[in-house]
Amino acid sequence: MKAEILAVGTELLLGDVVNTNAQYISKQLAQLGIDVYYQTVVGDNAQRLEKTILNAFERADLIITSGGLGPTEDDLTKETGAKYFGKNLVLDQKAMDMLESFFKRLNRKMTENNAKQAYVPEGALVMYNKNGTAPGVITEENGKILVNLPGPPRELIPMFEEYVKPYLAKKQENIFVSRVLRVAKIGESEAENMVKNIIATQTNPTIATYVKGYEVVFRITAKAKNEE
Ligand code: ATP
Ligand code: MG
Repeated sequence: MKAEILAVGTELLLGDVVNTNAQYISKQLAQLGIDVYYQTVVGDNAQRLEKTILNAFERADLIITSGGLGPTEDDLTKETGAKYFGKNLVLDQKAMDMLESFFKRLNRKMTENNAKQAYVPEGALVMYNKNGTAPGVITEENGKILVNLPGPPRELIPMFEEYVKPYLAKKQENIFVSRVLRVAKIGESEAENMVKNIIATQTNPTIATYVKGYEVVFRITAKAKNEE
């Protein structure tokens, strides 16, 4: 499965927020054995978001988005995803109940625009949010999977753990397991040269070299049915 991570939010493009969600999701997908080919960031703009989703599905089977699930006008990730699949947004009563009790608990007034968060693409799997207001959704059709997660990491991470991980794990035949071998006192080119025969013929596991601080690191990654 080929995946792409799409972080939505103008604050990311302005440099106000570091895109830690992309890093977290990439790491999780690697552990699940899912290849991530692109990470993209797009602002809160309907046309550019729509175009980005279209482009991404040309080259990926799975898109995981973060952000833009909030109550305001510029939160449009879910709406744009529904449009891609030609789905209407329908009320999810459980999401609405959870929203209402969330506001009751905080003793705050729930405004009209909050209700929009309880609307989900028809037929989508709803991921209820225990740490915020916006539920996430997973829409799957014709081999294309779109996962919409909320932006705040304290909402996104538990939701990924509870819903996305088991959902994707079920579809995966193989997982990736990596080990690193650290080498010191020789440079990267020399280190690579010493194992160039292995590198040239690598298939499974694969070997990647890179430099980290004063060390040369070999990342050795195997793809198999299980960790053993
Ligand atoms: P909510 O309705 O709960 O605010 P949302 O889905 O609308 O969620 P955004 O408004 O896009 O999310 O982002 C809310 C906050 O989440 C941002 O201000 C930022 O602090 C954090 N955030 C968003 N995207 C990322 C990201 N890619 N990496 C790290 N933090 C992020
Ligand atoms: Mg928001």
